[in-house]
Amino acid sequence: MKIEDKLALNKFEIDKEVHIQVEEKLCQGCDLKPCLYVCPAECYQLRENHMTFSYEGCLECGSCRLACDRQAIRWVYPRGGFGICYQYG
Ligand code: SF4
Ligand code: SF4
Repeated sequence: MKIEDKLALNKFEIDKEVHIQVEEKLCQGCDLKPCLYVCPAECYQLRENHMTFSYEGCLECGSCRLACDRQAIRWVYPRGGFGICYQYG
């Protein structure tokens, strides 16, 4: 099964409150931009040389928080009842 098919099994209860915030001005001097490569949901995108982020499809894996060595990411879990609901099988 491809990762796209597995991701399609998940359900999201999107919270209006953003649970991850990126201080984008710190991204401008970040050459490698590891968040682009570690996020399995591709929440981080580079558009016209600007880092963009959307939290809605976040899998709450925490990889971006570990990969960013500039402390540009403020990361908390979504509020109770919100966020991803994993489905198996
Ligand atoms: S790793 Fe951190 S500083 Fe670098 S582009 Fe991603 S969020 Fe910005
Ligand atoms: S926690 Fe995981 S899925 Fe969510 S934005 Fe960070 S790397 Fe992507």
